Amino acid sequence: MTLQYKVLCVDSFRMRILRAAHLGMCFGVRDAIALALEHADAGPLTILGDLVHNPTVLSGLEAKGIAVAQDVAHVRTPTLMVTAHGTSGRTLARTRALGLAVVEATCPLVRVAHHAVAALARDGYHVVIVGQRDHVEVRGLTGDLDRFDVVLEDDDVLALEWHSRIGVAAQTTQAVQKVRHLVDLIRRRFPRSDVRFIDTVCRPTKERQSAAVVMARQADVVIVVGGRSSNNTRELVRTCARYCARVHHVQTDADVRHEWFDAAKVVGLTAGTSTPDHVIDRVEARIRQVEAQIETTATRSVAEGRR
Ligand code: SF4
Repeated sequence: MTLQYKVLCVDSFRMRILRAAHLGMCFGVRDAIALALEHADAGPLTILGDLVHNPTVLSGLEAKGIAVAQDVAHVRTPTLMVTAHGTSGRTLARTRALGLAVVEATCPLVRVAHHAVAALARDGYHVVIVGQRDHVEVRGLTGDLDRFDVVLEDDDVLALEWHSRIGVAAQTTQAVQKVRHLVDLIRRRFPRSDVRFIDTVCRPTKERQSAAVVMARQADVVIVVGGRSSNNTRELVRTCARYCARVHHVQTDADVRHEWFDAAKVVGLTAGTSTPDHVIDRVEARIRQVEAQIETTATRSVAEGRR
């Protein structure tokens, strides 16, 4: 085989990895992890709920001796940390009443969402949150309200009751297009109501979503890296699936499968806001490894065919 022919063969099996322009861990999660590690060095610490929805990060925190409790009643350390997802004023008051010291890692953009919800309620709006009813952030956003609704799908909007004033805000990690669609639906369902929408989807989520669209449009295969229970990661999967038929969600490099990349020229890569850089790097390295195996196999079979 001539050298030129060999290079052509190798090139025809080469994949380009296209990283989304914005991907991976956001400043809110990064700061919360740093704060947890700092306090864990100072003394025993319990985190209320999962600090982030990423198993790699959580096992790292566990290795530092940090405990996790799903309810304040189960906390056995003198200090409790509220996660980046935030919590309600009522939960904070209950925590302090138990004599626990509170460390707040609430992301400033979650606080913006809390202020928006409080303003809507104060101005007499019936609050509707676009988000997952049982998500810790949504529980925090609604925890100080006596009456509210949570919607995630069109059917949830159809089940809403009439209110003269409806105030809508969103879980910070929802896809903004979906949020806008549901707000439009609420407006159409209740044309005589005063429907006020405050866009509380955070900027890092919006940046990751729009960068994922640009990337997925060009990719033959998309790999989305993030925890299975991470809401924003799952939203990235859904968004990419609208523009690319072959989308795979992985938690770590161990989940990457060789057969996903058959005949792929461009492999897109993105990651949720709780995914650490080193996890993304390892997934990319694994894709490169698969590419090298595909190249070797293909070049060998071309060479054998020429003999
Ligand atoms: S996803 Fe957005 S709101 Fe949540 S921690 Fe990150 S920056 Fe903050």
